[in-house]
Amino acid sequence: MKALEDKILTEGKILQGSVLKVSSFLNHQLDSDFIMELGAEFARLFSDADVSKILTIESSGIAIALATGAAMHVPVLFAKKHHTSNILGESYQTVVHSYTHDCDYTVVVEREYLSQEDRVLLIDDFLANGKALEGLLELVHQAGAVTVGAGVAIEKGFQNGGEHLRKQGIRVESLAIIEKMDSTGISFRKQP
Ligand code: 5GP
Repeated sequence: MKALEDKILTEGKILQGSVLKVSSFLNHQLDSDFIMELGAEFARLFSDADVSKILTIESSGIAIALATGAAMHVPVLFAKKHHTSNILGESYQTVVHSYTHDCDYTVVVEREYLSQEDRVLLIDDFLANGKALEGLLELVHQAGAVTVGAGVAIEKGFQNGGEHLRKQGIRVESLAIIEKMDSTGISFRKQP
């Protein structure tokens, strides 16, 4: 999506450890009109998928997930993060390793909000090594629901998450794929 690539080039900042900071529109301040456009694009890309629910992880995925849910007229569920894994009760849960914080946390979804009738579209802001999306896939699996695919705003194509998920047969649609990111600048993978 050209508009997203342009926004990354003008507003993105490269931090240590191959982290892209896009706090001006996606990760801290939210450019509401622009995020609605990202949601509309995901809705267009997955219009054939008969989606019944969007699933994301708090907190950075929620805005784009809501924009997508609004465009598709389906509910949006966000997995909650907990630092301990001893939350018992009526929930699906799994452990995810955080790329940006380098720690493990438990993600939790209450059973009543995800069922085997659901056709779930996963949405997240970034795809790096794929751990966040793998965690969401596991929650959908525990619920016996179907994952129709994953929509990611920014995929870092130089990390292996996207390749790994696609090899498993997961449909991954990324609105911008960064091929290279260093002190000389940012380049994007050409997409059909
Ligand atoms: P993964 O689990 O695919 O390794 O990393 C994806 C998660 O880590 C996303 O949910 C996102 O919050 C965070 N993340 C990974 N890379 C970046 C990055 O370059 N910039 C920002 N802002 N977040 C990132």
